Amino acid sequence: MAELQFLGAAQQVTGSCYLLETESLGRTLLDCGMHQGGDAVDRLQEESFPFDPASIDNLILSHAHLDHSGLIPLLVSRGFSGTIYCTPGTLKLLPIMFNDAAGLYERDLKHENRRRQRKGQKPLKPIYTKKDVETAIELCRPVPYGKDWPVGKTGKASLRFLDAGHILGAAITELTFPEDGSDKKLVFSGDLGKKVAVLMNEPATVASADLLLMEGTYGNRNHRSMPDTLQQFEDILRESWKRKGNILIPSFAVGRTQEVLFHLGQLHHAGKLDPWQVYLDSPMAIAVTDVYDECLHVLDRQDAAKIREMHKGSLKNCLPNLEYVDTPEESMALNDIKHGAIIIAGSGMCTGGRIRHHLKERVWNPKNTVMFVGFQAAGTLGRILVDGAKDIRLFGEEVIVKAKIETLNGFSAHADQGELVDWLLQVQGKPRVMLVHGELSALDILSMKLWREHRLATESPYIGQRIFF
Ligand SMILES: [Zn+2]
Repeated sequence: MAELQFLGAAQQVTGSCYLLETESLGRTLLDCGMHQGGDAVDRLQEESFPFDPASIDNLILSHAHLDHSGLIPLLVSRGFSGTIYCTPGTLKLLPIMFNDAAGLYERDLKHENRRRQRKGQKPLKPIYTKKDVETAIELCRPVPYGKDWPVGKTGKASLRFLDAGHILGAAITELTFPEDGSDKKLVFSGDLGKKVAVLMNEPATVASADLLLMEGTYGNRNHRSMPDTLQQFEDILRESWKRKGNILIPSFAVGRTQEVLFHLGQLHHAGKLDPWQVYLDSPMAIAVTDVYDECLHVLDRQDAAKIREMHKGSLKNCLPNLEYVDTPEESMALNDIKHGAIIIAGSGMCTGGRIRHHLKERVWNPKNTVMFVGFQAAGTLGRILVDGAKDIRLFGEEVIVKAKIETLNGFSAHADQGELVDWLLQVQGKPRVMLVHGELSALDILSMKLWREHRLATESPYIGQRIFF
């Protein structure tokens, strides 16, 4: 019997990690993600694996987002030396993601240690370093979409990645291995994209599975349609311009930033964009945008063609007044702008990064708008703002919230309820379905819908649960 243990993103959204044990594959991790929310140093210092990292033979990574990949450098620092399988697109993004996270961690740890020194406490030792990041990248083996790839020591198991349509390089994993005299197929959806999304392809369909892990981030609701979302986007931009305000867009560096730039470019091209000055205030998002430009050939064909024709093959050229903001000094200089700035900065859930400085500078002013364009996990500052907090704490200071808080869920990089149901219904072979990567309230609603309308039974495993199949 193969055994699968749910170690993260079970009845919750972040920290994606599942441990598979089979004879032919050995011990294989699916994802090794970071939990989000709270203080990064505290969270990382307390991070521990419920297994010996040195005992893991393989790691199959669905995509580069840190809630799926962020603990890989720590895994390496604690002794992991197996193979990491991911797509070529993911491998292009990982060094950018890891080095950025390691840089932030180093900086925060230094700050924390100075604080501890002042209190007469012992300094904390770093739990991983940039050397571990380098080693992690060396362990990666790129596997292109659609190819059957041998995996594991016995050579009897095979892996196939399919395009999940979520961000560049995101994959659905199909893993086939012999167990108890027959072939077993495990499918892990990773994060599934929407059917209609700019830059991304529609998620690939899966023919069959014995065990299926499907994400359910938006299991409880459907997104607004893309035309409605674009209208909402346009309306918010126009109203904010009239109010003589500025717009802050907390944005994931990977995927959402490029999508927002593309939409702004389209609006500009159609003559529908007021003369905003757009600032991409994130060295990581800038580097990732360059990677997207390099990888146009794997993105949605029509959108890639538009970028080639209208924007000289580069998202950077999609707006005449787009400025890349690199240094912290340049970022701070944005504080002096009174009106007309759209500032796109990370992190997407406001858990860190430059967006927190911009919030402190601007969220108290009713002229300004904070536009959320992605899912906000429970416990994050982004979620607190979306839930209507009247005041927040930033850098030890209380700041009142007077800016307009807007949420555009239609820009989500995740499939909605209807799309998840459709995706699942086309899988043959009557798989055992485990719903993961969703808050329990969302998974319950999805599960109920699947049972009532399609007589399809599902389970929502809890953290630590083991199943045999
Ligand atoms: Zn993701």
